[in-house]
Amino acid sequence: MAKDYYAILGVGREATPDEIKRAYRKLARQYHPDVNSEPDAQDRFKEINAAYEVLSDPQKRQMVDMGADPLAPGGGGPGPGGPGGPFVGFQDIMDAFFGGAAGGASRGPRPRTRPGSDALIRLDLDLEETAFGIEAPLTVDTAAVCETCHGEGTAPGTHPATCDMCGGSGEVQSVQRTFLGQVMTTRPCGNCQGFGTVIPNPCPTCGGDGRVQTRRTVTVKIPAGIEDGMRIRLAGQGEVGPGGGPPGDLYVEIHERSHDVFSRKGEDLHCRVVLPMTAAALGTQMTLKSLDGEENVEVKPGTQPGATIKIKSKGVPRLRGGGRGDLFVHLDVKTPTRLDAEQEKLLKELSKLRGEETIEPARPGGGFFSRMRDAFNGHA
Ligand SMILES: [Zn+2]
Ligand SMILES: [Zn+2]
Repeated sequence: MAKDYYAILGVGREATPDEIKRAYRKLARQYHPDVNSEPDAQDRFKEINAAYEVLSDPQKRQMVDMGADPLAPGGGGPGPGGPGGPFVGFQDIMDAFFGGAAGGASRGPRPRTRPGSDALIRLDLDLEETAFGIEAPLTVDTAAVCETCHGEGTAPGTHPATCDMCGGSGEVQSVQRTFLGQVMTTRPCGNCQGFGTVIPNPCPTCGGDGRVQTRRTVTVKIPAGIEDGMRIRLAGQGEVGPGGGPPGDLYVEIHERSHDVFSRKGEDLHCRVVLPMTAAALGTQMTLKSLDGEENVEVKPGTQPGATIKIKSKGVPRLRGGGRGDLFVHLDVKTPTRLDAEQEKLLKELSKLRGEETIEPARPGGGFFSRMRDAFNGHA
C-alpha cells in the first residue's frame, strides 16, 4: 500500500506547493537529528524528506494522487539522494534552517543608514575642578549629518538607483558543486556593496557617505568629586552613522592634572609640611592653603617626624552620598645642618640640661635592634 505522504507532512490533498513547502520546513526544523534527540527523530526526518521530495515534484505528486508510490522499488525511480535518503532536497533543508526563497542565508539588501559609533575624548582638569565640578566647553571633532544631502549621499536633485548587478537584492548567488550535489551560496553584491542601490551622482560635499567631519563645541557638566579615569557619557553626541544614521554616544574621560601641593586618594587629600626641629619641639601655629582657602593648623609641642594632622572635611566632596573627605597633613621634622658658633653653643647647653650628651643603645627586649640581635643569637 502506498504511503500517505500528505499525512506525513500534515497537509490536505489540495495543498498548494507553498503550503507543502511551509509544512515541510516546519517539520524539518522540528525533527532534524541535530536539534532533536528523540530516538525516532532520524526516521521521522527521513520520512518527512521523502514526503517532501515526492509532493514538491509535480510528476511524483501526480503519481501519488493516482494511488502509486513513486519511491517504492520500481515505483518511479530513485530521487536525487536515493529513496528517502538524508540529502533529499539539501537546499530545502538549508532553507528550512536559514530561511530565504532562493537559497543560502539570504538577508536582502543592507540599509545604507547605519548607527554611528561612540566617540571618546579626553579632558584634562585641575584638582580644584574635579573637586568642585565645572561646566567645561569641549571641542569635539566627529562626523555630523551632511547638510547638503541630509544623509542620503546623493547630489541635490538625484536619487540612488537600483543596482543592475543584483537587481536591488544586495546579494548575488552562485552554484557550487559539492559531494552533496549543487549548493547555492549567497554573498553580498560587489557592485553595490550589498546596499541594493548605487549612487550615480554622489553628493559633492560628503562624497556619498551622508556625513561630514565637523568641529563643534559641546558643554559638559563635570560633577563635583569626579575622579581621574572616570568617564561621562553624553548620549547621542558621538559619531553620526553612515547615511546619516543615528549618532553614537560621546564619552568624556577625565584626567586630573597633578597638583603642586596635594595628592589625592579617593576623596582624601594628602600634603607634606616640613617643620624646623625647634617648631616641632616647641609647637607652633601655621597657615595652610587648602582647596577652600587658608586653614590655621596647630602643631602640638613635641611633634615627632611622620606625625599626621587630620583636618576634617577639607578633602574632596564625595561624588555620591554627599559630605567630604579629609585633609591629612604629614609632618616632617628638619634637623639643622649648618650651625654657627652661637647656635652650637646653645644646643650644647640644651643637650647638657636634658642629659642627652651620651646616647644609650635601646635596652634588651626593648627596641628593634635588640630584637634583631636576639634573632641572630638564636634567642628569639
Ligand atoms: Zn548590487
Ligand atoms: Zn552629502
